[in-house]
Amino acid sequence: MSAENKLTQDSERFFLDALNQLGVDEESKQLMCTPYREVKCELPLRRENGQVGVYVGYRVQHDRSRGPFKGGLRYHPAVDLDHCRALARAMTWKCAVVDLPFGGAKGGIACDPSTLTFSERETLTKRLVNRLAPLLGPDRDIPAPDMGTGPQEMAWILEEYAQLSGDDPAVVTGKPVELGGSSSRLAATGRGVSLVTAWACPAQGIELDGARVAVQGFGNVGRYAAAFLADLGARVVAVSDVHGALFAGDGLDLEGVGRCLEDADSPKLPELEDFGEAISNEELLALDVDVLVPAAIDGVFDAASARDARAKMIVEGANLPTTWEGAEVFAERGIPVIPDILANAGGVTASYLEWVQNRQRYRWPEERVDKKLESILKAAWREVRDRAQKEDVTYRQASYLIAVERVGRATELRGF
Ligand code: NAD
Repeated sequence: MSAENKLTQDSERFFLDALNQLGVDEESKQLMCTPYREVKCELPLRRENGQVGVYVGYRVQHDRSRGPFKGGLRYHPAVDLDHCRALARAMTWKCAVVDLPFGGAKGGIACDPSTLTFSERETLTKRLVNRLAPLLGPDRDIPAPDMGTGPQEMAWILEEYAQLSGDDPAVVTGKPVELGGSSSRLAATGRGVSLVTAWACPAQGIELDGARVAVQGFGNVGRYAAAFLADLGARVVAVSDVHGALFAGDGLDLEGVGRCLEDADSPKLPELEDFGEAISNEELLALDVDVLVPAAIDGVFDAASARDARAKMIVEGANLPTTWEGAEVFAERGIPVIPDILANAGGVTASYLEWVQNRQRYRWPEERVDKKLESILKAAWREVRDRAQKEDVTYRQASYLIAVERVGRATELRGF
């Protein structure tokens, strides 16, 4: 089975488990499982070197019962329909568990963005919007950044949409601040990870002040999560990137590491020997820490790595970092896992607040956004914690039970 098929299957098993617990009938199961719409389109590009490249773009819209589709656009060689299907589904449950008025979608382009020039990325992004145009809109489907995309791609989406349908900043979130974006959005996912960790720690008897934390992935999510956790008093002892990890038992100088990475021509974390000892990503996942935050890629915890893990608690910054088998091992071993659909929901929550401001054509002060983000996430955390306690299930099961119930009820009320 390919890694992508495994990802789709696991994402399906997590919510089928909830449907089974809720005693949902087979027809409703099929309805919630099947994506609303899947698009695959050809994106030809005349490269600056004169060659023609043919790229493929995707958008999977999973469910719209609770509101317009919402989800990121990923530029990565592994993007395909299956990958988008799994991630679109996860977005549906994420928006539902945090109670945002959105459904789930995901899309992207199968490409390595580091091999494309700035203007090639612009052409490709605008071409994708052109192909998807009838499906996008503030009340239809609202893209956002994901791996390989950021505020610049969102600005190009805004412009191409404006050319076709008229200017409306609410068509996309994660935009540059100058175009109606929110200054809180960039750090919001990592901030949410740190907040949920802080609320979950006492429930596990962990004192966050002085707690040893390891973070896999030092990109948008990992870097901000590490910084916010350090601000809350945690000792971040290891961080990693695709090249490997850096470990310092007394806690890493995160600001120094960050500065070095920015100054380096081809930054590689394990090479920053002045700050700590180089270890592998596998070793990081097995460190004896209080909290481990996988914030890089999917599928890092399978049964074997979940068995090797020595962390007291896992907080999923990445999407789908734990396989079905990994989740079973964590449950057997009594290691609590705060699931992705709750732990990394800070990003989509900030996106929702950006969309609300765009629709009002009014900009809130940053403190108001941060406060609202915190109150939305806190309400979701409390519901998940209470449900987990009441039904004696894992945090993941509790999150899925809440999300699936909400989506099921909305579908039933609308009819189809
Ligand atoms: P990013 O591209 O900014 O950073 C990814 C980090 O992971 C980098 O440090 C990279 O070097 C590292 N990495 C890549 N491959 C790796 C590997 N094989 N082993 C170890 N490390 C590896 O991406 P991001 O935006 O931080 O997203 C990370 C994860 O969080 C993804 O699963 C993404 O879908 C999820 N997520 C992101 C957001 C967001 O707002 N950015 C929101 C919700 C979920």
